[in-house]
Amino acid sequence: MKITSEQEMLNFGKDFANRQDPLSIIELIGDVGAGKTTFVRGLAKGLGIKENITSPSFTISKTYVLPNGKTLTHYDFYRLNDPGIMQGDLTESFQNPNNITVIEWADSVENLLPKNRTRISIKYNDDDSREVTVL
Ligand code: ADP
Ligand code: MG
Repeated sequence: MKITSEQEMLNFGKDFANRQDPLSIIELIGDVGAGKTTFVRGLAKGLGIKENITSPSFTISKTYVLPNGKTLTHYDFYRLNDPGIMQGDLTESFQNPNNITVIEWADSVENLLPKNRTRISIKYNDDDSREVTVL
């Protein structure tokens, strides 16, 4: 799918929050500036989170509470040198049925991720639009 603006990416994320199959684990694949965090901002809005979503690249993870009491945990492993330190945290997040997990830069923790996750690829086009594919 072609996404031509930041607003469209926000809307795509927002709509994703209302998909029929319950959200559990989403892996976002794309280069720096592709729009992964923008997608999460939209997703969070769709889930009813009022808080501002900021990139967790320095803190590695941030958790937000939904109006229904469920939680969204947003990971960014861009600066993660030792994936082992996150294993316990990640596993807890996956196993909690009331938590939605969304991950940027999952490469280093790939072998810790359940196979049944949703993977979304975001690629730049030459005209600055983005090609988004739900893999
Ligand atoms: P990432 O998390 O993948 O590094 P961000 O979402 O933080 O990327 O940043 C994407 C940047 O690109 C934002 O500044 C956003 O305004 C801009 N942008 C421009 N066009 C688009 C688009 N079509 N989709 C998403 N972001 C876009
Ligand atoms: Mg980001």
